[in-house]
Amino acid sequence: MADPDGSTFVPTFDFDAEEVWIGEDPANAGRPGVLSQGTYGAKVAVDLILGLLDGKGIKGTFFVVGKVAERYPDKVRRIIAEGHEVAVHGYTHRSPTTLTREEEEDELTRTLAMLRDLGADPVGYRSPSWDFSENTLPLLAAAGLAYSSNMMDDIRPYVHEGYDIVELPVQWMLDDAAHFWFADSTWTKKISRTSEVREIWTEEFLGIHALGGLTVLTMHPQIIGRPSRLRMFDAFLDFVREQEGVRIMTAREAAAAAR
Ligand code: ZN
Repeated sequence: MADPDGSTFVPTFDFDAEEVWIGEDPANAGRPGVLSQGTYGAKVAVDLILGLLDGKGIKGTFFVVGKVAERYPDKVRRIIAEGHEVAVHGYTHRSPTTLTREEEEDELTRTLAMLRDLGADPVGYRSPSWDFSENTLPLLAAAGLAYSSNMMDDIRPYVHEGYDIVELPVQWMLDDAAHFWFADSTWTKKISRTSEVREIWTEEFLGIHALGGLTVLTMHPQIIGRPSRLRMFDAFLDFVREQEGVRIMTAREAAAAAR
């Protein structure tokens, strides 16, 4: 049973390549083997994801780390050229809670300028780690951004109190990293089966859909872009599209529709 007004589905990709590993542990900067997991995202996965989205005529939202845009400008240009949305995911992949106000402002303005130079018109922000500092919202507002996609306190978009910024809520269940992330610091953790993740995403999406809410799927090229997971994502997208009353949008469109 679906809400008569339908629901909104927003596929998003955090393009953080090597930077997520360096953010996790700065010592990883000297470990090419560890970093190569992130390189896979830029070298192989982004193109596969763009091909998949193109085949379905779906536009996605890519939150890009500034340093990744510096290292892979052609990938970011291709994302933009194919009509997808590009938004900000920090300059480094450090949590805002570890930065001074000046550092956080510099990360934001530097990445905005860089993405604009590549041809994007970013209006959204996702923090590395979904963490906010006390300065984050004021800085986003000062930069004129329209939306954030970081909080877990709702299943519907809302406007942050005191700021003209729409929140597009996320959740760990709807994040590929929560299910598939694997590192030497999590050696005893088992990597989830794609079928298990498909089941979790399907149930949560159907629940949100029935309530007429917003499903923001958070993925990472280096994680969802593994061949087996792409097949799962492909089938999941088809399932989502088959449900009556689902509007598939970019984050920017969802934020505009929520206003
Ligand atoms: Zn990230």
